[in-house]
Amino acid sequence: MTGELEHKFEVGILEREGRQKLPQEIKDELKSSGMMDEKGKLKLKGVSPKMLKRMKQEYVECPVLEDQIHFIQCFVCPNFQSRVMGKVLCKGDKI
Ligand code: SF4
Repeated sequence: MTGELEHKFEVGILEREGRQKLPQEIKDELKSSGMMDEKGKLKLKGVSPKMLKRMKQEYVECPVLEDQIHFIQCFVCPNFQSRVMGKVLCKGDKI
């Protein structure tokens, strides 16, 4: 049976003009897990350049961190389950 993914929150994905900076510690994490090269270029599996460009302008009001979180950070968060129709399905565990 293919039930719905278990998640606690559905978090709306918001957009703002221009690029947003990723916090340095997130960049370091992305680099150490091979999702960003030394020049700071993102390498996310299965994400097209067009999609990536869009993702760079998106953010969420994260209910766990209670802060605005860059969508890329959200995308690689352990709580991230999937993106469905403009929403993130979030496990909602403490991080
Ligand atoms: S997946 Fe992570 S960053 Fe995204 S909304 Fe959930 S806790 Fe926040």
